[in-house]
Amino acid sequence: MLLCDDYLTPKSLAEAFDMIEAHRGHYRLVAGATDLLPWAREGRAGDVHIPILIDVARIPELREKIVDDKRVRLGAATAVQRFLDDAALGRVMPAMPRCAVWFADDQLRESATIGGNVVNASPAADATPPLFAHDAVIELASRKNGRIETRKLPIDEFIVGPGQTKLADDEILTTIECESLPGYGGSFEKVGHRRSLVISTVCLAALVKLDASGHTCKDVRLAIGGIGPVPVRLHDVEQFLISGPLNAGRLEQAAEMPVSLVRSRTRQDYRRDVVRGFMLRGLFNAAQRAGASANLLTPDMEAAYA
Ligand SMILES: Cc1cc2nc3c(=O)[nH]c(=O)nc-3n(C[C@H](O)[C@H](O)[C@H](O)COP(=O)(O)OP(=O)(O)OC[C@H]3O[C@@H](n4cnc5c(N)ncnc54)[C@H](O)[C@@H]3O)c2cc1C
Repeated sequence: MLLCDDYLTPKSLAEAFDMIEAHRGHYRLVAGATDLLPWAREGRAGDVHIPILIDVARIPELREKIVDDKRVRLGAATAVQRFLDDAALGRVMPAMPRCAVWFADDQLRESATIGGNVVNASPAADATPPLFAHDAVIELASRKNGRIETRKLPIDEFIVGPGQTKLADDEILTTIECESLPGYGGSFEKVGHRRSLVISTVCLAALVKLDASGHTCKDVRLAIGGIGPVPVRLHDVEQFLISGPLNAGRLEQAAEMPVSLVRSRTRQDYRRDVVRGFMLRGLFNAAQRAGASANLLTPDMEAAYA
């Protein structure tokens, strides 16, 4: 059972830090509470008494949105649903709408935030592989001697293990800054125990930019979740794919490369098969959405991978 004595809703960062300082050791931050409430309610943590919940979702800095062709700067309290209904965001983060469509359900997506997903740091969190693929940078705020200070960390340094991040006790995740990737084809592949309302067993984000001929990858970004304690960015596969033409043989070679990275504690053989299949399907779909020429991605490949 979850017991909470007070629920506070600061309207500014300064007000949030006033509350943090006033309730040190007795509060917990919350944004959508879609991770926190089920964790506490299901009794996994026994009886939980959190004296003060501080809901950061209304703080303006955490609702920021700057989108241009160079960068995307999003407040941590951006709801996952925004990636489905904001076309400008989908254009520069082309894997995210496909991630969001498989994320929980309509109601949860309106509450669940990207900041909460990153801080929860589940090995199977859906938003983290696309953010790894975008080289996301996490911005954290704290208040020292009355002054609000910020620090930035690349997402692969911020998430250090299952449920573990470099967030300090008195810090608030304020924004996530990403490279803007207009013109890329995006794909997000996910499998879980059920079809819907399910946390991923394995998920993969693929982003592909083709050259003008439509035959060769100018850039490829790949990241997988669920195969180990933290998401994995596949830099060596990306290098392989940009080093030659895109065709069925090379897609199949690329699909084999990350199979040996599966380090999860359970269902390793299953996950290896899934990784191979997701690589083929993710890369095929992303290349097709990037405008790959018709004679490059053949109907045979479509039948096998799409
Ligand atoms: C039925 C159901 C289905 C789900 N489906 C999916 C799914 O398909 N894919 C998926 O990835 N997840 C899924 N989840 C998990 C959850 O919805 C996500 O992880 C969500 O993104 C968490 O965001 P939140 O704002 O609700 O986090 P909260 O529960 O509010 O917080 C999560 C953690 O992050 C901390 N936190 C939150 N915001 C901040 C901040 N700004 N600064 C510092 N700390 C912060 C909190 O203290 C807490 O420890 C599901 C959950 C449920 C209940």
